[in-house]
Amino acid sequence: DKNYMKLEFLSKSSNESFARVVVASFASQLDPTLEELSDIKTAVSEAVTNAIIHGYEYGDGMITVEASINRNEIEISITDEGKGIEDIKQAMEPFYTSKPDLDRSGMGFTVMETFMDDLIVESHKDKGTIVTMKK
Ligand code: ATP
Ligand code: MG
Repeated sequence: DKNYMKLEFLSKSSNESFARVVVASFASQLDPTLEELSDIKTAVSEAVTNAIIHGYEYGDGMITVEASINRNEIEISITDEGKGIEDIKQAMEPFYTSKPDLDRSGMGFTVMETFMDDLIVESHKDKGTIVTMKK
């Protein structure tokens, strides 16, 4: 069956766990295993954290999380209207980070790719970023 949700919140770190729990709760109608649910939470958490610390590194803005259920699949997208990514290919490489000084390991996109079945990153400088993943 089909279902859809949309959540908007300010890019504050305290909202990261909130977003993760909402998506996990929405996803639970698919009767996922604990492992699948944990994978979804981890991936959402990485994408939302990226929107907060990279997208809106110069000031708070709005983050939108959408999720669609179609049959036995969930598609989740995380959108920010922040600074955008200039070189998406480089950004998605394991261990690449633009903030090595801030204890970042550069593994966020790799984690999303590993834990989800599909990952698409669309981004434009100074316009924002949309991360779409499926499981
Ligand atoms: P980690 O996730 O391991 O803490 P990281 O966030 O630097 O480190 P990734 O999540 O893989 O690593 O992201 C790689 C790089 O892509 C970031 O360092 C940043 O430059 C860029 N990036 C990721 N998401 C966004 C975003 N929403 N807006 C702007 N830049 C982003
Ligand atoms: Mg990251």
